[in-house]
Amino acid sequence: MGYDIVTMGPLLCEIMRKELDKPLDRPADFTGPYPSGDTAIMLNAAAKLGARCAMIGVVGDDGFGRCVTDRLKENGVDCSMIRVHPEAATGTAFVCYYSDGSRNFLFHVHHAAPGMLEPEDVKPEKLAGSKWLHVSGFTMSVNQASAEAIYKMVETASPESKVCFDPNIRPEALSEEEIRKLCMPVIRRADIIFPSKSEAAMLTGCATDEEGCRSWAADGKIVVLKNGDQGCRIYSGTEAFDVPGFSVEEVDPTGAGDTFCGAFLTGLTEGMSLEDCGRFANAAGAMSVRKQGPMEGAPSRAELEAFLQEQTNT
Ligand code: ATP
Ligand code: MG
Repeated sequence: MGYDIVTMGPLLCEIMRKELDKPLDRPADFTGPYPSGDTAIMLNAAAKLGARCAMIGVVGDDGFGRCVTDRLKENGVDCSMIRVHPEAATGTAFVCYYSDGSRNFLFHVHHAAPGMLEPEDVKPEKLAGSKWLHVSGFTMSVNQASAEAIYKMVETASPESKVCFDPNIRPEALSEEEIRKLCMPVIRRADIIFPSKSEAAMLTGCATDEEGCRSWAADGKIVVLKNGDQGCRIYSGTEAFDVPGFSVEEVDPTGAGDTFCGAFLTGLTEGMSLEDCGRFANAAGAMSVRKQGPMEGAPSRAELEAFLQEQTNT
C-alpha cells in the first residue's frame, strides 16, 4: 500500500527577526531556528492530521538538518527518502516583517543542501500506489536538477496517483515567461492546483485570477484559490463557490498556504466533499497563523476538530 501524500523540496530552518521593521541589512535580534520549507510545512500539517506521508529532500549533516527532520519524524512523516549530504549545509531562510504586513526573505538554498537534490532522489518504485504527489513551483525554481527531479516524479507517477500543484512562485528569481515554461509540464498533469492571489492570472496569461482558475477548471482540474483571511474559492467543472475563512488573531502568516494545502489533501484522501475540504483547510490555515514559526501553529486532528466545533457553537 502506498502513501497518502509524497512531496519533494527544500528542507529549511527559518530564522526570523524578533521585532517588526528590522531590515536584514542591519544588526538586530533574531529568533529560531524554526523548521520550514514550503513542501515540508505542507507535509507536516498533513501528517499531524493523520495522513500517511513521505518526504524527499536533502539536508546537511548539522543541527538545522536534524531540527527539521526530527520535527517531521515526530509528526509521523516517513523520512527515509531524505538524504543527508556530507558537506553541504542545511538550507536556511532569514525573514523580517514590516508593519505594513510585507515580508522580506533571504534564502540559502541554491548553494546549500536543497540545491543538491537530483533526479536520482526520486525512486518511482517507492512512490508507486501513492494517492497524491505534491509539487511546489519553488522546488522547480531551485535549479535545473531540481526541476528534472520534479519532472521525473510526475512522468513516472503511476496512473492511480494524482498530482497536486502549488505554484508558490517567487517572481524575483525568474521572469514570468521562464516560470510558465518551468511549470507547464506539471500543470498539464495536475489534478488539483492551489494558486495564491495573482498566480492563476500569471500562469495562464488570463486577465484575472477568476478567468485563469475557470480555464484550468474547464480543463478538468480542481482549483482552490487561497484568499488569506477570506478563506478560499473552489472551482470544479463549471461550478465555483466560496468557502468563508475563520476569524483569528494573526501572529505570523508564513506557511498558512502550505498548511492549508496539507489539510485539503488530507480531506480529499479521506473522501470529504470539496466544500468540507475547504472548511477543514481554512481551519488549519487560520490556526497556523496564530503562532510564530511556519510549522508551530499546525493543529493536531483533535485540535482542529475542537476548533471547528467551537466555530459551529458560536
Ligand atoms: P503563504 O504563501 O504565505 O503560505 P498563501 O498566499 O499561499 O500563503 P493565504 O491565502 O495567505 O495563502 O493563506 C492560506 C489559507 O490560510 C487561507 O485560504 C485561509 O484559509 C487561511 N488563512 C491565512 N491567513 C489567515 C488569517 N489571517 N485569518 C484566517 N485564516 C487565514
Ligand atoms: Mg503560497
